[in-house]
Amino acid sequence: MIWNDEFETLPREVIESLQLKRLQQTLQRVYATVPFYRRQLDKVGMTPDKVRSLADLQRLPFTLKQDMRDNYPYGLFAVPLEQIVRIHASSGTTGKPTVVGYTRRDIDTWAELMARSFVAAGAHKGDVIHNAYGYGLFTGGLGAHYGAEKLGASVIPMSGGNTKKQLMIMQDFGSTVLTCTPSYSLYLAEVAAEEGIDFKSLKLKVGIFGAEPWSEEIRKEIEAKLNLKAIDIYGLSEILGPGVGIECIEAQKGLHIWEDHFIPEIINPETGEVLPHGEHGELVITTITKEGIPMIRYRTRDITRIIPEPCICGRTHVRLERMSGRTDDMLIIRGVNVFPSQIESVLINIEGVEPHYQLIVDREENLDTLEVQVEVNEQTFSDEVKILQSLSSRIRKEIKDMLGVTCKVRLVEPKTIARSEGKAQRVIDKRKEQ
Ligand SMILES: [Zn+2]
Repeated sequence: MIWNDEFETLPREVIESLQLKRLQQTLQRVYATVPFYRRQLDKVGMTPDKVRSLADLQRLPFTLKQDMRDNYPYGLFAVPLEQIVRIHASSGTTGKPTVVGYTRRDIDTWAELMARSFVAAGAHKGDVIHNAYGYGLFTGGLGAHYGAEKLGASVIPMSGGNTKKQLMIMQDFGSTVLTCTPSYSLYLAEVAAEEGIDFKSLKLKVGIFGAEPWSEEIRKEIEAKLNLKAIDIYGLSEILGPGVGIECIEAQKGLHIWEDHFIPEIINPETGEVLPHGEHGELVITTITKEGIPMIRYRTRDITRIIPEPCICGRTHVRLERMSGRTDDMLIIRGVNVFPSQIESVLINIEGVEPHYQLIVDREENLDTLEVQVEVNEQTFSDEVKILQSLSSRIRKEIKDMLGVTCKVRLVEPKTIARSEGKAQRVIDKRKEQ
């Protein structure tokens, strides 16, 4: 099923000519209304009329998260505040949040793209959508909510937290679609097990999970524990919120990015050079329909690649491979680049280990240290010390083989690692405190 047959299946050359036209309009607008963009373009000797092909996009400077902070709160808005009908912000780990504003048309576009995303995930009118993304300044809750209403589904605005109540509502209201972070879905499964609730007795058929990187192995785990199809969704508030891209249920392989609204590029994060389709690098997105706060070549920090091959679902928009991590999350341990998701892949494949872990990075005598704390299941935990020792040396060896880093492994009791109702905190980097 396709929500917007006309736009989701446009031939490649039509997508590209539409992108060029919309890019030119966006550049004209920001050049005239946002001093920051005018300065950026002037700096490289570009004006909007010099952009005559999509390839010319590469000649424009990047926009960074820091640019949003420097222009806090409204400096990058391209319309007067009277035209902004909604403001969201993403929490900064340090200092001020980044602020985004939406015009009425932006809200409509967002709802349209979320409706497309729900349908791509296999949801339809008549579904009961249990929305456990947080409602508030975070874009997850309201973003999914408006899309669900646009689709004509019955949306339950649960927001995060209150896990036992979530389970009761799912049972009593007959929720068929779940939206939340992947780590929260696993927490729901854990609490359900404690409460003696079997997911097979629920009506859930699809879960749409995003807002943090997750792996194929976690997908299998979620699908087995929650008895549903797990779909990966992508979005970030700087670009729109949830619904920038999503996997289709037909292929469950790569996320279609809605190219009539966004232009994706993949760059080498060190040099800024644009990489050919198929190569891994940092995702850069330009918005070409957004009015409130257009983004020109925004560096997302997410690592992926573009899959240009046609998809079996019939949608013609290119796919992004599942995000393998963020350049921000990348740890450099004794000179080796390590993504938490790589360690997760190792852990998930080991029998007796639970998908709850934390990485503690520290520095001792000028040497980086990595400790992997991971929960084992009840049964393993009650095993003999010798068995536990052999399990931890196996984990150590597999991480060494796969990533080339030596680590300490600490097996911890079930349920000792803090559970999160939003994004899971996987890394504690103590080097930053020194
Ligand atoms: Zn597809």
